[in-house]
Amino acid sequence: AQQQEQQKPASPPLPRQNAKVTPPSPPKIIADKTRTLEYLRVGMLGEGGFARVYEVKDVRGNRAACKVVTKSSLKTKKAKTKLYAEIKIHKALDHPNIVRFQDCFEDEENVYMTLELCHNGSLMDMLRRRRRFTEPESRFFMIQLIGACHYMHTHQVIHRDLKLGNIFLDQNMNVKVGDFGLAALIETPGERKKTICGTPNYIAPEVLFDNVNGHSFEVDTWSIGVILYTLVIGRPPFQTKDVKAIYKRIHDNDYEFPADRAVSTRVKELIQSILTPDPQQRPTLHEIVDHLWFTTGTVPPYIPISAHDAPPDFR
Ligand code: ADP
Repeated sequence: AQQQEQQKPASPPLPRQNAKVTPPSPPKIIADKTRTLEYLRVGMLGEGGFARVYEVKDVRGNRAACKVVTKSSLKTKKAKTKLYAEIKIHKALDHPNIVRFQDCFEDEENVYMTLELCHNGSLMDMLRRRRRFTEPESRFFMIQLIGACHYMHTHQVIHRDLKLGNIFLDQNMNVKVGDFGLAALIETPGERKKTICGTPNYIAPEVLFDNVNGHSFEVDTWSIGVILYTLVIGRPPFQTKDVKAIYKRIHDNDYEFPADRAVSTRVKELIQSILTPDPQQRPTLHEIVDHLWFTTGTVPPYIPISAHDAPPDFR
Protein backbone atom coordinates (compact mmCIF):
# COMPACT_ATOMS: atom_id res chain seq x y z
CA ALA A 1 0.00 0.00 0.00
CA GLN A 2 2.91 2.26 0.85
CA GLN A 3 4.24 1.94 -2.68
CA GLN A 4 0.92 2.61 -4.22
CA GLU A 5 0.73 5.84 -2.26
CA GLN A 6 3.97 7.03 -3.86
CA GLN A 7 3.18 6.18 -7.46
CA LYS A 8 0.88 8.41 -9.34
CA PRO A 9 -0.33 8.27 -12.92
CA ALA A 10 0.17 11.28 -15.17
CA SER A 11 -3.52 12.04 -15.42
CA PRO A 12 -6.07 11.66 -12.64
CA PRO A 13 -7.80 8.30 -12.76
CA LEU A 14 -11.53 8.01 -12.89
CA PRO A 15 -13.17 6.90 -9.67
CA ARG A 16 -13.30 3.15 -9.44
CA GLN A 17 -16.70 1.55 -9.48
CA ASN A 18 -17.27 -0.35 -6.28
CA ALA A 19 -16.63 -4.01 -6.86
CA LYS A 20 -19.88 -5.90 -6.90
CA VAL A 21 -20.02 -7.92 -3.74
CA THR A 22 -23.01 -9.66 -2.25
CA PRO A 23 -24.57 -7.18 0.16
CA PRO A 24 -24.76 -8.21 3.80
CA SER A 25 -27.96 -9.80 5.10
CA PRO A 26 -27.51 -9.71 8.85
CA PRO A 27 -29.75 -11.70 11.21
CA LYS A 28 -32.78 -10.11 12.86
CA ILE A 29 -30.92 -10.26 16.17
CA ILE A 30 -27.38 -8.96 15.80
CA ALA A 31 -25.01 -9.97 18.58
CA ASP A 32 -21.34 -10.39 19.25
CA LYS A 33 -19.91 -13.84 19.93
CA THR A 34 -20.34 -13.59 23.70
CA ARG A 35 -23.78 -11.96 23.43
CA THR A 36 -22.74 -9.02 25.61
CA LEU A 37 -23.90 -6.70 22.86
CA GLU A 38 -27.27 -7.51 21.39
CA TYR A 39 -29.39 -5.49 18.99
CA LEU A 40 -32.68 -6.00 17.21
CA ARG A 41 -32.63 -4.97 13.55
CA VAL A 42 -35.66 -2.77 12.94
CA GLY A 43 -35.16 -1.19 9.52
CA MET A 44 -32.72 -0.29 6.78
CA LEU A 45 -31.30 3.23 6.60
CA GLY A 46 -29.10 3.14 3.55
CA GLU A 47 -26.43 1.50 1.52
CA GLY A 48 -22.86 2.53 0.76
CA GLY A 49 -19.99 1.07 -1.23
CA PHE A 50 -19.45 -2.11 0.78
CA ALA A 51 -21.78 -1.55 3.68
CA ARG A 52 -25.42 -1.57 4.53
CA VAL A 53 -26.66 0.58 7.37
CA TYR A 54 -29.59 -0.58 9.50
CA GLU A 55 -31.56 0.96 12.30
CA VAL A 56 -31.24 -1.20 15.42
CA LYS A 57 -32.52 -1.20 19.00
CA ASP A 58 -30.63 -2.46 22.05
CA VAL A 59 -32.28 -4.37 24.92
CA ARG A 60 -33.10 -1.12 26.70
CA GLY A 61 -34.86 0.23 23.62
CA ASN A 62 -32.11 2.70 22.66
CA ARG A 63 -31.97 3.17 18.92
CA ALA A 64 -28.76 3.27 16.92
CA ALA A 65 -27.48 2.94 13.37
CA CYS A 66 -25.54 -0.23 12.59
CA LYS A 67 -23.12 -0.34 9.68
CA VAL A 68 -22.65 -3.90 8.43
CA VAL A 69 -19.74 -5.08 6.30
CA THR A 70 -19.54 -8.71 5.13
CA LYS A 71 -16.35 -10.53 5.96
CA SER A 72 -16.31 -11.86 2.40
CA SER A 73 -15.71 -8.29 1.20
CA LEU A 74 -12.67 -8.12 3.51
CA LYS A 75 -10.63 -10.87 1.89
CA THR A 76 -7.80 -8.62 0.74
CA LYS A 77 -5.30 -7.10 3.13
CA LYS A 78 -6.01 -3.70 1.61
CA ALA A 79 -9.76 -3.92 2.35
CA LYS A 80 -9.07 -4.93 5.95
CA THR A 81 -6.51 -2.17 6.45
CA LYS A 82 -9.01 0.38 5.12
CA LEU A 83 -11.79 -0.73 7.43
CA TYR A 84 -9.48 -0.84 10.47
CA ALA A 85 -8.26 2.67 9.66
CA GLU A 86 -11.85 3.93 9.44
CA ILE A 87 -12.71 2.33 12.79
CA LYS A 88 -9.55 3.55 14.51
CA ILE A 89 -10.03 7.13 13.35
CA HIS A 90 -13.78 7.32 13.91
CA LYS A 91 -13.58 5.71 17.38
CA ALA A 92 -11.10 8.33 18.57
CA LEU A 93 -13.34 11.29 17.70
CA ASP A 94 -15.75 12.78 20.21
CA HIS A 95 -17.54 15.98 19.17
CA PRO A 96 -21.21 17.09 19.24
CA ASN A 97 -21.22 17.53 15.45
CA ILE A 98 -19.59 14.21 14.58
CA VAL A 99 -21.59 10.95 14.41
CA ARG A 100 -20.63 9.12 17.60
CA PHE A 101 -18.99 5.74 17.18
CA GLN A 102 -20.45 3.37 19.78
CA ASP A 103 -19.26 -0.22 19.38
CA CYS A 104 -17.62 -2.54 16.96
CA PHE A 105 -18.01 -6.32 16.95
CA GLU A 106 -18.34 -9.30 14.65
CA ASP A 107 -20.07 -12.63 14.15
CA GLU A 108 -19.26 -15.42 11.69
CA GLU A 109 -20.49 -13.46 8.67
CA ASN A 110 -20.06 -9.74 9.27
CA VAL A 111 -18.34 -6.87 11.01
CA TYR A 112 -20.74 -4.48 12.76
CA MET A 113 -20.27 -0.89 13.79
CA THR A 114 -22.93 0.77 15.87
CA LEU A 115 -23.19 4.52 15.45
CA GLU A 116 -25.27 7.34 16.81
CA LEU A 117 -28.58 7.36 14.90
CA CYS A 118 -29.23 10.40 12.73
CA HIS A 119 -33.01 10.57 12.51
CA ASN A 120 -33.24 13.28 9.87
CA GLY A 121 -31.17 11.82 7.03
CA SER A 122 -28.46 13.72 5.19
CA LEU A 123 -28.21 17.27 3.86
CA MET A 124 -28.23 15.69 0.38
CA ASP A 125 -31.71 14.20 0.96
CA MET A 126 -32.91 17.50 2.34
CA LEU A 127 -31.47 19.56 -0.53
CA ARG A 128 -33.33 17.35 -3.02
CA ARG A 129 -36.62 18.33 -1.42
CA ARG A 130 -35.73 21.96 -0.79
CA ARG A 131 -33.72 22.64 -4.01
CA ARG A 132 -31.62 25.15 -2.11
CA PHE A 133 -31.28 26.64 1.37
CA THR A 134 -31.69 30.17 2.66
CA GLU A 135 -28.51 31.94 3.74
CA PRO A 136 -29.43 31.89 7.47
CA GLU A 137 -29.97 28.10 7.31
CA SER A 138 -26.70 27.73 5.43
CA ARG A 139 -24.89 29.71 8.13
CA PHE A 140 -26.32 27.41 10.79
CA PHE A 141 -25.21 24.22 8.99
CA MET A 142 -21.82 25.67 8.01
CA ILE A 143 -20.91 26.79 11.54
CA GLN A 144 -21.55 23.30 12.90
CA LEU A 145 -19.71 21.68 9.98
CA ILE A 146 -16.71 23.97 10.38
CA GLY A 147 -16.69 23.31 14.14
CA ALA A 148 -16.56 19.55 13.51
CA CYS A 149 -13.86 20.01 10.89
CA HIS A 150 -11.75 22.20 13.15
CA TYR A 151 -11.99 19.53 15.84
CA MET A 152 -10.88 16.82 13.39
CA HIS A 153 -7.94 18.91 12.19
CA THR A 154 -6.74 19.64 15.71
CA HIS A 155 -6.83 15.86 16.21
CA GLN A 156 -4.71 15.33 13.09
CA VAL A 157 -7.58 13.86 11.07
CA ILE A 158 -8.38 14.88 7.48
CA HIS A 159 -11.88 13.70 6.50
CA ARG A 160 -11.23 13.83 2.72
CA ASP A 161 -14.82 13.12 1.76
CA LEU A 162 -16.85 16.01 3.12
CA LYS A 163 -20.00 16.34 1.02
CA LEU A 164 -23.72 16.80 1.55
CA GLY A 165 -24.31 13.03 1.55
CA ASN A 166 -21.95 12.59 4.51
CA ILE A 167 -23.45 15.37 6.59
CA PHE A 168 -26.27 13.91 8.64
CA LEU A 169 -28.92 15.56 10.80
CA ASP A 170 -29.94 14.34 14.25
CA GLN A 171 -33.45 14.60 15.71
CA ASN A 172 -32.88 18.28 16.56
CA MET A 173 -31.61 19.10 13.05
CA ASN A 174 -28.06 19.48 14.28
CA VAL A 175 -25.21 18.54 11.95
CA LYS A 176 -23.39 15.23 12.44
CA VAL A 177 -20.46 14.54 10.15
CA GLY A 178 -20.16 10.84 9.29
CA ASP A 179 -18.46 8.31 7.01
CA PHE A 180 -14.76 8.24 7.88
CA GLY A 181 -14.07 5.70 5.14
CA LEU A 182 -11.57 7.98 3.39
CA ALA A 183 -10.22 9.80 6.44
CA ALA A 184 -6.49 10.00 7.01
CA LEU A 185 -4.42 10.52 10.12
CA ILE A 186 -1.51 12.94 9.84
CA GLU A 187 1.07 11.26 12.03
CA THR A 188 4.02 13.57 11.63
CA PRO A 189 3.81 17.38 11.35
CA GLY A 190 4.04 18.52 7.76
CA GLU A 191 3.28 15.07 6.38
CA ARG A 192 1.55 15.19 2.97
CA LYS A 193 -0.83 12.61 1.53
CA LYS A 194 -0.66 11.39 -2.06
CA THR A 195 -3.59 9.03 -2.50
CA ILE A 196 -6.17 10.34 -4.94
CA CYS A 197 -9.49 10.03 -3.21
CA GLY A 198 -12.73 11.85 -2.64
CA THR A 199 -15.92 12.42 -4.57
CA PRO A 200 -15.44 14.10 -8.00
CA ASN A 201 -17.54 17.23 -7.40
CA TYR A 202 -15.85 17.96 -4.08
CA ILE A 203 -12.17 17.09 -4.78
CA ALA A 204 -9.61 19.84 -4.25
CA PRO A 205 -7.36 20.67 -7.23
CA GLU A 206 -4.15 19.69 -5.40
CA VAL A 207 -5.47 16.13 -4.86
CA LEU A 208 -5.90 15.75 -8.61
CA PHE A 209 -3.02 17.76 -10.00
CA ASP A 210 -0.22 18.18 -7.47
CA ASN A 211 1.73 14.96 -7.43
CA VAL A 212 4.81 16.72 -6.10
CA ASN A 213 3.58 18.26 -2.85
CA GLY A 214 0.58 16.04 -2.16
CA HIS A 215 -2.25 17.32 -0.01
CA SER A 216 -3.26 17.90 3.59
CA PHE A 217 -5.92 19.53 5.78
CA GLU A 218 -6.72 22.21 3.20
CA VAL A 219 -8.60 19.65 1.07
CA ASP A 220 -11.39 19.69 3.66
CA THR A 221 -11.49 23.49 3.48
CA TRP A 222 -11.95 23.25 -0.29
CA SER A 223 -14.85 20.80 0.19
CA ILE A 224 -16.36 23.23 2.69
CA GLY A 225 -16.35 25.87 -0.07
CA VAL A 226 -18.03 23.44 -2.48
CA ILE A 227 -20.60 22.60 0.20
CA LEU A 228 -21.39 26.27 0.88
CA TYR A 229 -21.89 26.93 -2.85
CA THR A 230 -24.12 23.86 -3.12
CA LEU A 231 -26.27 24.87 -0.13
CA VAL A 232 -27.04 28.36 -1.43
CA ILE A 233 -27.10 27.65 -5.19
CA GLY A 234 -28.61 24.14 -5.18
CA ARG A 235 -25.98 22.24 -7.16
CA PRO A 236 -22.18 21.81 -6.91
CA PRO A 237 -20.05 24.49 -8.64
CA PHE A 238 -18.08 22.21 -10.99
CA GLN A 239 -20.95 19.86 -11.84
CA THR A 240 -21.12 18.65 -15.47
CA LYS A 241 -22.04 15.53 -17.37
CA ASP A 242 -18.85 13.54 -17.04
CA VAL A 243 -16.11 13.17 -14.47
CA LYS A 244 -13.28 14.21 -16.81
CA ALA A 245 -15.09 17.46 -17.55
CA ILE A 246 -15.61 18.04 -13.82
CA TYR A 247 -11.85 17.61 -13.26
CA LYS A 248 -11.10 20.04 -16.08
CA ARG A 249 -13.41 22.62 -14.52
CA ILE A 250 -11.74 22.10 -11.14
CA HIS A 251 -8.34 22.49 -12.81
CA ASP A 252 -9.42 25.73 -14.51
CA ASN A 253 -11.31 26.99 -11.41
CA ASP A 254 -14.22 27.31 -13.82
CA TYR A 255 -17.51 27.98 -12.02
CA GLU A 256 -20.02 30.78 -11.94
CA PHE A 257 -22.95 32.06 -9.96
CA PRO A 258 -26.12 31.58 -12.01
CA ALA A 259 -27.83 34.90 -12.66
CA ASP A 260 -31.28 33.58 -11.82
CA ARG A 261 -30.37 32.84 -8.20
CA ALA A 262 -30.31 35.75 -5.84
CA VAL A 263 -27.47 35.25 -3.39
CA SER A 264 -25.67 37.93 -1.42
CA THR A 265 -22.44 39.48 -2.63
CA ARG A 266 -20.90 38.50 0.70
CA VAL A 267 -21.54 34.80 0.28
CA LYS A 268 -20.15 34.90 -3.27
CA GLU A 269 -17.06 36.64 -1.95
CA LEU A 270 -16.61 34.03 0.78
CA ILE A 271 -17.06 31.12 -1.66
CA GLN A 272 -14.54 32.66 -4.04
CA SER A 273 -11.97 33.04 -1.29
CA ILE A 274 -12.43 29.43 -0.12
CA LEU A 275 -12.20 28.04 -3.66
CA THR A 276 -8.64 29.33 -4.04
CA PRO A 277 -6.66 26.80 -6.10
CA ASP A 278 -3.40 27.18 -4.13
CA PRO A 279 -3.99 25.36 -0.81
CA GLN A 280 -1.44 27.63 0.91
CA GLN A 281 -3.48 30.71 -0.05
CA ARG A 282 -6.82 29.23 1.02
CA PRO A 283 -8.30 30.80 4.17
CA THR A 284 -8.03 28.96 7.49
CA LEU A 285 -11.21 27.73 9.21
CA HIS A 286 -10.83 30.62 11.68
CA GLU A 287 -10.65 33.14 8.85
CA ILE A 288 -13.76 31.60 7.28
CA VAL A 289 -15.93 31.97 10.37
CA ASP A 290 -14.58 35.51 10.85
CA HIS A 291 -15.84 36.52 7.40
CA LEU A 292 -18.54 39.22 7.32
CA TRP A 293 -21.03 36.75 5.83
CA PHE A 294 -20.94 34.92 9.17
CA THR A 295 -20.33 37.80 11.56
CA THR A 296 -22.96 40.24 10.24
CA GLY A 297 -25.64 37.78 9.08
CA THR A 298 -28.51 36.08 10.92
CA VAL A 299 -27.74 32.72 12.46
CA PRO A 300 -30.94 30.95 13.56
CA PRO A 301 -30.75 29.33 17.02
CA TYR A 302 -32.08 26.07 15.58
CA ILE A 303 -33.61 24.68 12.38
CA PRO A 304 -37.29 23.65 12.69
CA ILE A 305 -38.31 20.20 11.40
CA SER A 306 -40.64 22.00 8.96
CA ALA A 307 -37.49 23.10 7.08
CA HIS A 308 -37.43 19.62 5.50
CA ASP A 309 -40.03 20.77 3.01
CA ALA A 310 -40.21 24.56 3.08
CA PRO A 311 -37.90 27.48 3.85
CA PRO A 312 -38.34 28.64 7.44
CA ASP A 313 -38.93 32.33 8.13
CA PHE A 314 -36.15 33.59 10.39
CA ARG A 315 -37.00 37.26 10.62
P1 ADP B 1 -20.43 4.12 2.88
O1 ADP B 1 -19.24 4.52 3.66
O2 ADP B 1 -20.38 2.71 2.44
O3 ADP B 1 -20.82 5.10 1.80
P2 ADP B 1 -22.16 5.42 4.72
O4 ADP B 1 -21.52 5.45 6.04
O5 ADP B 1 -22.08 6.67 3.91
O6 ADP B 1 -21.63 4.18 3.90
O7 ADP B 1 -23.70 5.04 4.90
C1 ADP B 1 -24.55 4.73 3.82
C2 ADP B 1 -25.95 5.30 4.08
O8 ADP B 1 -26.48 4.83 5.31
C3 ADP B 1 -25.97 6.80 4.21
O9 ADP B 1 -26.07 7.44 2.98
C4 ADP B 1 -27.20 7.04 5.08
O10 ADP B 1 -28.36 7.00 4.30
C5 ADP B 1 -27.18 5.84 6.00
N1 ADP B 1 -26.51 6.16 7.28
C6 ADP B 1 -25.20 6.03 7.56
N2 ADP B 1 -24.90 6.38 8.82
C7 ADP B 1 -26.07 6.73 9.40
C8 ADP B 1 -26.43 7.19 10.73
N3 ADP B 1 -25.54 7.34 11.69
N4 ADP B 1 -27.75 7.47 10.96
C9 ADP B 1 -28.66 7.34 9.97
N5 ADP B 1 -28.39 6.91 8.72
C10 ADP B 1 -27.11 6.61 8.42
